Amino acid sequence: MKVIRSRRQRVCILIALLFVVLARESNASSRPKVRVLSTGGTIAGVQLNDEAPAYRAGTASAEDLIRAVPQAKKLADISVEQICNIGSQKMKNSIWLTLAKRLNEVLKDPDVDGVVITHGTDTMEETAYFLSLVSKSDKPVVMVGSMRPSTAISADGPMNLYNAIALAVNRNAKGRGVLVTLNDEIHYAREVEKSNTTGLNTFVSPNRGRAGLIQAGDAVFFSEPSLKYGLRSEFSVDLLAELPQVEIVYAYSNVGRDTIDYLVNKGVRGIVLAGAGEGNATDEALAGLQDAAKRGVAIVRSSRVGSGIVRRNIEVNDDRMGFIASGELNPQKARVLLMLGLTMTTDPNKLQNYYYEY
Ligand code: ASP
Repeated sequence: MKVIRSRRQRVCILIALLFVVLARESNASSRPKVRVLSTGGTIAGVQLNDEAPAYRAGTASAEDLIRAVPQAKKLADISVEQICNIGSQKMKNSIWLTLAKRLNEVLKDPDVDGVVITHGTDTMEETAYFLSLVSKSDKPVVMVGSMRPSTAISADGPMNLYNAIALAVNRNAKGRGVLVTLNDEIHYAREVEKSNTTGLNTFVSPNRGRAGLIQAGDAVFFSEPSLKYGLRSEFSVDLLAELPQVEIVYAYSNVGRDTIDYLVNKGVRGIVLAGAGEGNATDEALAGLQDAAKRGVAIVRSSRVGSGIVRRNIEVNDDRMGFIASGELNPQKARVLLMLGLTMTTDPNKLQNYYYEY
């Protein structure tokens, strides 16, 4: 059938079409903008074959991860950047510095409303705490991973990622520092710990509890974050090319001082004791640590227990031995704070104060 339209009708149709296109455009640009910084992990893991549980973390790309959650496009305009693609057991100080500097640049971009960082769960708590101390913005920063690789039956990555994107655009997530989400839970960077090698409920916040819960993108917060982080933190990566070397020494029955002496001779700037109980160790190990402190190595006593507080001067006389007590920080987080603390001071009293403040 032939349709004959007047010139006037054609102009009207054109104008109407233009309105439709413009309306669509403005609808798209009114969505919040989320940048996804991808670093790898099991969430980007791919099984070696369908039958076996073995897989290689850090294989799928950032784009692949987003493609698995098409629903997230309704929440935000999403752009992606691949920072690295590794299992987080391979995380290094140098990658932390690159990631933190890039994160701060992205957060400064007025076109970004929130950031999601995909990451392996093995060291996520360390990266989250590090970033919470050096990122300078109130915009939401949400770290997310998964316990099952992307090719697994009932992979948990897509829902975790959907929740992370929802959190990154949630006004109520602003100003809370770096958040971690997994298994429908929200945790604060300072509190979260990996507690199970394979369970979906691996993340816990043993001392101060979870930050909240999230279901299909709908978040409820239970508490405010405690202590200093983000804009109130005095630590900065801006001028840092590297972090001071700080190592962790594990305590167990019969532990001697050989490892401690080795590290001191190697020139480490700090040692964190993953102590038994409330940061305890054998007399030999403590003597090694006391000698290290005398040589100017910062010694922090933490605990291998996984929860609770290491206070000063309980079973170990920190005042006499020149030690620092880690408070609520587990050894891996105590190491993060000590590395950043040592960029500011070597004074054990000032370093001790950081453990009260952060
Ligand atoms: N090894 C993995 C990683 O940390 C484990 C995970 O992501 O769950 O990258």
